[in-house]
Amino acid sequence: MSIKVLLVEDEEALQGLLEYNLQKEGFEVVIEGDGGLAEIAVAEHAPDIILLDWMLPNKNGIDICRALQSKPESRAIPIIMLTARAEEEDKLKGLGYGADDYITKPFSISEVVARIKAVLRRVNPAIAEDVVSFANITLDRAQKRVKRAGKAIDLGPTEFRLLEVLIQRPGRVYDRAQLLDRVWGQDIYVENRTVDVHVGRLRKALNKGFATDPIRTVRAAGYALDETYSD
Ligand code: CA
Repeated sequence: MSIKVLLVEDEEALQGLLEYNLQKEGFEVVIEGDGGLAEIAVAEHAPDIILLDWMLPNKNGIDICRALQSKPESRAIPIIMLTARAEEEDKLKGLGYGADDYITKPFSISEVVARIKAVLRRVNPAIAEDVVSFANITLDRAQKRVKRAGKAIDLGPTEFRLLEVLIQRPGRVYDRAQLLDRVWGQDIYVENRTVDVHVGRLRKALNKGFATDPIRTVRAAGYALDETYSD
């Protein structure tokens, strides 16, 4: 399970606490403390879920929520609002603007983890399971195995990660920067061209002996698993 959480929160103590504990649970965590930069962080990191504080510098949580909902590329990303008890009314507003759930501060870490998993299961069952299938392709996260039409596909670790990202959301287009971030991580410098090289390897392994290519190249944009694919 490799799930990326974007935490939009300006309180440093909470940033550290959530980052540490969510990482311990196996989540990947990216943090943005400035409300005005939240949408940029979403575009850059393509998170699976967003924990969104309500009171933020430069742009509040409701406005961010509304902005993310208005864009097709971010509409599908689930949002959990973090609100203080005094902001009871805002919770309802947040849900009205498309947030999937809310958590009231102060909260326990186990509550946050449980809510994240519950929301992910609801919006995208594939993401919380060990085995993800799309059409006749099956990816087993626990055993690190891939099959196409029952045939075992031998993939290197990078190609496995690439397919894992793409298969979680068939049809969603990831640009090269997003794939770099998801597959190689934020702290490593890799050229954009490297993505093309590994997509090429993934295609070669996946398509050997098959007539169709389930990976779609989107000109000037990136790559997606073709949602119309079937063998
Ligand atoms: Ca705050």
